[in-house]
Amino acid sequence: LGKIKQGLKKTRENVFSKLNNVFSAHKKIDEDLLEEIEEILITGDVGVDTTMEIIEHLRQQAKRQKAESPEDLQKILKEELSRQLLAPPEESVTHRPYVVLVVGVNGTGKTTSIAKLAHHYKQQGKNVLLAAADTFRAAAIEQLDIWAQRLGCEIIKHQPGADPAAVVFDALTAAKARNVDYVIIDTAGRLHTKVNLMSELSKIYRVIDKQIPGAPHEVILVIDAGNGQNAVNQAREFVKAVKVNSIFLTKLDGTARGGVVLSIKRQLGIPVKYIGLGEKMTDFELFNPQEFLEGLFA
Ligand code: GDP
Repeated sequence: LGKIKQGLKKTRENVFSKLNNVFSAHKKIDEDLLEEIEEILITGDVGVDTTMEIIEHLRQQAKRQKAESPEDLQKILKEELSRQLLAPPEESVTHRPYVVLVVGVNGTGKTTSIAKLAHHYKQQGKNVLLAAADTFRAAAIEQLDIWAQRLGCEIIKHQPGADPAAVVFDALTAAKARNVDYVIIDTAGRLHTKVNLMSELSKIYRVIDKQIPGAPHEVILVIDAGNGQNAVNQAREFVKAVKVNSIFLTKLDGTARGGVVLSIKRQLGIPVKYIGLGEKMTDFELFNPQEFLEGLFA
């Protein structure tokens, strides 16, 4: 819990601790109190729709449970917030190699997150192969290469400008030949050329499925918590283009906008599974709704 508590410091101190103050400042449950809660949630990047739903729920539950004190309402709020947080799916890695496709806009922390994930798997004694299929930027290939060396894992890369699907083909061929446990594929993240991005991703998909039927086993979308509600809008574009299974939410440590987690499930229907809490490969946690809530209010 220490790491999460530390990582959520800004979100907690700038946003959620205000909620605690509001509950203790009010003597009874009334519209004034509800309005103050509403304002804090909206400024805390919880999203207008999600906030409205939460407030309506508080109003109804307070009535139904005949809640009297603000403390009762606080309890109802915490229960409701944990309901908003969808638990990520259990790991059931039965495929070998287990193929993970990572998508997201450049700058969100995609490369760093891939390194964190690779480190996480390596810690479990698994071997990992990285595929540098973001061939659009020379820097992306170089950066992934540096991480691969640091992690001591294999990387398949081509020249900048090469066909990303060819990189994926080679990576999967190598993975099968060498009995690799995990293949993590980096992809380009240029949303402004949406049509290209979609056709590039669908070509990658076809190559993967042909080599390993049923793969990719997991598609992770990386989004930057610092973008708050905008991150959700950006995510929506990706979700339209590719079937995303889970979300890697980065840079929670640098922002007060961690409340965005609370609206991701409602707005995207996809669980946050991984969180980034810093720049090092160990600044990583599997998302745990209960721990996250404790970190917000601790
Ligand atoms: P990419 O362009 O999406 O591949 O992004 P990078 O992985 O290159 O990351 C962009 C910047 O964000 C780098 O300076 C990373 O160190 C930083 N970064 C990535 N994840 C996190 C995180 O969880 N917390 C913080 N504070 N910085 C991060």
